[in-house]
Amino acid sequence: MKIHNFSAGPCVLPATVYQQASEAVLNYQNSGLSILEISHRSSEFIAILEEARQLVLKLLSLDATQYTALFLQGSASMEFLRVPLNLLQTKAAYIDTGTWSSKAIKEAKGLGEVVEVASSRDRNYTYIPSDYELGTHLDYLHFTSNNTIYGTQFVEIPQVEIPLVCDMSSDIFSRKLDFSQFDLIYAGVQKNIGPAGLSLVVVKNEILGKTTRAIPSIMDYQQHINHGNLYHTANVFGVYACLLNLRWLNDLGGIEVIERMNNEKASLLYRTIDGLDYIKGIADQKYRSKMNVTFDFEAAGLKELFDIYCRDANIVNIQGHRSVGGYRASLYNALPIESVEVLVQVLEQVKHKS
Ligand code: PMP
Repeated sequence: MKIHNFSAGPCVLPATVYQQASEAVLNYQNSGLSILEISHRSSEFIAILEEARQLVLKLLSLDATQYTALFLQGSASMEFLRVPLNLLQTKAAYIDTGTWSSKAIKEAKGLGEVVEVASSRDRNYTYIPSDYELGTHLDYLHFTSNNTIYGTQFVEIPQVEIPLVCDMSSDIFSRKLDFSQFDLIYAGVQKNIGPAGLSLVVVKNEILGKTTRAIPSIMDYQQHINHGNLYHTANVFGVYACLLNLRWLNDLGGIEVIERMNNEKASLLYRTIDGLDYIKGIADQKYRSKMNVTFDFEAAGLKELFDIYCRDANIVNIQGHRSVGGYRASLYNALPIESVEVLVQVLEQVKHKS
């Protein structure tokens, strides 16, 4: 039975990833060992880790002599704290575009002065603020490129002269950008990278080592770099599953190809939403996310109908976040367009009853 999983994360991954990951659990590459029992210091795992780290830089077109990719235990929320511990000396700027950036701000405030240079709080984060001025003496600017909960996305990346730090949890590897404009990118892996339980950090080496604070070892990016990303026991299976997913993307043709597919999925769904007068999009048109599409019905009665139709069509995890309400269809890289086509049919089916 085909299930159409629109979850905001953890989310659907490619079928080939499930297949290969499950084979590796039983017998990793005919070694007679499960991937779950191999040592993080084994040559097998070091090969997995290094291939995954290199593939990250390759897919982002980043120079491996300037940037380092790290798979770290924790999650994006851990990076909310690791980033200021490593980079905040006196003062940093943050753009507040929703729950996740607010949480990043909260963590940074414990470690130095934080200037909230812009916020879209006034309209429940349905847009991306673009009119702001940065002050002086800032260690970095932090922003969240895609706002998973509200369905908004930065179309233009802030152009600044200070180090640029981005929480790219919900749109990394989904669209072509000049990734060399960022000094640090981080992401919880559970959307476009792999199964939950890790964060990916891509850091420009030269920005580290500038704070004078004593950073606890496990929180210190430089420690992880110095130990070849093996400062402590790695999440062996998690990294392997990330590698399988990164290989899938690479074999597909990389970010350019997936971006075209993502554009097709998002425009099909937004076109449908705009064409049906009993549905409204939640985010401002200009800042609509191509990863998380938020919408609602004009009349409450239609929701009940939609919920029933979704159940019948095996559409799952489409309810909106509790702070926004309505619905949210997450269209991450591995979601096939066929799932969006089924959703579109269901949305149109409601019309006959409206
Ligand atoms: N940032 C963004 C943009 C997110 O979408 C999420 C989770 N959905 C987080 C941060 C927090 O991630 P985690 O649960 O991995 O800490």
